[in-house]
Amino acid sequence: MDPVIALVGRPNVGKSTLFNHLTRSRDALVADFPGLTRDRQYGRARVGRQPFVVIDTGGLGDDPEGVEAGMHKQAMQAVEEADGVVFLVDGRAGITPGDQDVAARLRRAGKPVVLAVNKTEGLDPGVAGAEFHALGLGAPAPIAAAHGHGIKALLEAVLGGLPRERLEGDSAAVVPEADSATRVAVLGRPNVGKSTLINRLLGEERVLVYDAPGTTRDSIEVPFEKDGRHYTLIDTAGVRRRSRVQESVEKFSVVKTLAAIDAAHVVIIVLDARGRVTEQDAHLVGHAIEAGRGLVIAVNKWDGLSDHDKDDVRRLLRVKLGFLEFAEIHFISALHGTGVGLLLEAVDQAHEAGNRDLSTGRLTQVLEDAVDRHPPPLVRGRRIKLRYAHQGGRNPPVIVVHGNQAERTPRDYRRYLANTFRDVLKLQGTPVRLEFKTTG
Ligand code: GDP
Ligand code: GDP
Repeated sequence: MDPVIALVGRPNVGKSTLFNHLTRSRDALVADFPGLTRDRQYGRARVGRQPFVVIDTGGLGDDPEGVEAGMHKQAMQAVEEADGVVFLVDGRAGITPGDQDVAARLRRAGKPVVLAVNKTEGLDPGVAGAEFHALGLGAPAPIAAAHGHGIKALLEAVLGGLPRERLEGDSAAVVPEADSATRVAVLGRPNVGKSTLINRLLGEERVLVYDAPGTTRDSIEVPFEKDGRHYTLIDTAGVRRRSRVQESVEKFSVVKTLAAIDAAHVVIIVLDARGRVTEQDAHLVGHAIEAGRGLVIAVNKWDGLSDHDKDDVRRLLRVKLGFLEFAEIHFISALHGTGVGLLLEAVDQAHEAGNRDLSTGRLTQVLEDAVDRHPPPLVRGRRIKLRYAHQGGRNPPVIVVHGNQAERTPRDYRRYLANTFRDVLKLQGTPVRLEFKTTG
């Protein structure tokens, strides 16, 4: 997977501001799903052609023993998972004991660190942040996150300090195409039933295969076969390391989860029918969409629920995940195996849809029909004219739409077109990315 950069520093130095600046432009696909919140701590970003993952940590405060202890732990876990660290300080506040504390922790962590002095707009660039040399973490990079100043140079410094292999990403990030085995990641919060589902998919006799070394960060890849079809399971749940399903739940790691998403064709997100749909569940969905992966939702522990409970769950899902029109929702019992066969069929379908070849003729015909039914709006007094469409990529399918003022097509109309392509072409289980090119 892509290199991972953690943003650390005291509260209020500007970490969230920097995070938002870095991830904003990459949220385009997620923005098409209005049900998804954007207040995530993990985002994807890019500098030049180099993609990376950025983590916004809650902050390292001045009081590691008190109320902030939990936040500290979370920030240090992010540092541990990261390849490189941006340490932010406030150029207007000067060095504080908190900064010194963070610096000491970072030195112990042994990760490559770049020191960024924020809020330096309007300050003399020769002087801004010079005092922070005293932190012993090398030359400070002056930035102004709120204004986008100095950020490119900062990122180049951070990424430039990483080994070449990390910049290229793990080999697993290059997902093999079409006729090889379908790569499936089973993801979800602790205790929703991932391990039970994985064991159900693999069957008892497959457990030995678990010793095959994986290529994904901390995950294990397990080939398996069901009804004559070949799959590779990307196991982040660490099933192999647990002799019994009931054993201790592993620490949930978003980085591990993102790596598994990157390495998969299709992601199964497991929800617990007996719990709520949480923010964390929604974030998982967001990460899968952002990566453009096929997506199937498995609502587990469906056994033993009363009809009344089932109705409640269905209603809740419509409210919470109603925006997720493209993904099938399956109600299963991993424990008893109910619904698992259909779940795998949905995985096959999502993989097929994500990889399908779409001809220019067919795409253009669907576009013309859609435009006939609902013409695009006027922009600046002239009607947008959409003329033809062709396929620009697979996994996820990218559909490039050409026409006069095509790039001005408003969001609602883009959504209408995306839904039309999906419905007519039956692109079930995969997000669809539309691009607009003004021609003629
Ligand atoms: P965090 O707690 O480290 O995530 O900090 P925030 O991103 O929430 O920022 C804290 C405050 O600093 C906010 O009021 C921001 O508007 C402000 N801030 C962030 N970046 C800059 C900057 O480049 N210049 C100035 N002057 N203020 C900034
Ligand atoms: P993981 O942390 O997501 O891997 O979850 P586990 O697979 O370890 O399951 C957590 C708990 O839920 C265990 O006690 C399982 O026995 C139980 N469980 C898993 N699947 C089901 C199911 O379909 N029905 C019921 N009733 N319990 C289940």
